[in-house]
Amino acid sequence: MKRIAIINQKGGVGKTTTTANLAAAVADMGRPVCLVDMDPQCHLSLHFGLDGDSDQPNLYDVLIGEADIGDIVQPVGDRLRILPASIDLAAIEGQLANQPGREMIFRRQIEAAALGDDFLMIDCPPSLGLLTINALAAADEVIIPLQPHFLALQGLGQLLQTVELVQQRINPDLRVSGVVLCMFEQITRLANEVVADLQNFFAAARGGDTPWSHARIFETVVRRNIKLAESPSHGQSIFAYDPSCHGAKDYRALAEEFLEAPLPAADQPPAETPPARPGLARPASPPAARPAATAEHDKPQSPPPAQNERTCLP
Ligand code: ADP
Ligand code: MG
Repeated sequence: MKRIAIINQKGGVGKTTTTANLAAAVADMGRPVCLVDMDPQCHLSLHFGLDGDSDQPNLYDVLIGEADIGDIVQPVGDRLRILPASIDLAAIEGQLANQPGREMIFRRQIEAAALGDDFLMIDCPPSLGLLTINALAAADEVIIPLQPHFLALQGLGQLLQTVELVQQRINPDLRVSGVVLCMFEQITRLANEVVADLQNFFAAARGGDTPWSHARIFETVVRRNIKLAESPSHGQSIFAYDPSCHGAKDYRALAEEFLEAPLPAADQPPAETPPARPGLARPASPPAARPAATAEHDKPQSPPPAQNERTCLP
């Protein structure tokens, strides 16, 4: 079973939407997926019609050692099931503060459960706290949903450093597989700059020994689509809610890319690498915050991506 953590410590970037619909698409393509709701807000559980009820055995009970994974797993579709969350997860950090090995609890549980699904997809909370660390400790791969707009790269450095720390200390096989651009509205100069910065950053890391030396930006971009925002309130994936909308098409394409595209080889640059700009080519150093954008940067612009004359990564 390949285990994937979908993380970004920012809220509202598309983590839960991507976890739910990427998993549903992969399951539709015949590959069983077990979802994990690692977020006390329970959005993934709610997305599939569960109510985040503390009375039902849930991930909290597993993490405090009062239930096994097998006690909480619930089917939510064909070849699709979930380890649901409850609001109780919000207290877990304090409760486990003094427990040795608390970062590894979920990994041990998931290995003991020996689930037969092809994929485990973990929807993480908007923080880099103990729940996200447990997800990273248990994962083989990290996918980062990101909205390519103002301040998109802010915090990415900290996120990557957290991944690296977990990789160095407790999970040597952990890799960042890539970034998914979510809620994409139009090609703006700012969006181009964010994408170019990321491409340069990942290209510069190729061949290095960081967890993101194989990372890519997925070619599939998830467009903003109101149906994606509506489907959770119906307790359905986008494929059950409106299988022909843009959102369904985008997540189906993302699932195809996810299943088919191998990670780029460590010693090969990506197919189309934009020219590196001064200050952007430092290998293996996470991107830092982008300085404030001006209104001009949000103006629509025609493809192909223009070269950014500004140096945004110090
Ligand atoms: P996160 O899990 O990172 O907090 P969500 O996936 O919950 O982010 O998305 C935040 C909000 O944006 C939700 O209301 C969700 O329904 C909506 N949303 C996510 N992706 C899209 C999209 N591509 N188009 C329109 N709305 C979206
Ligand atoms: Mg979420």
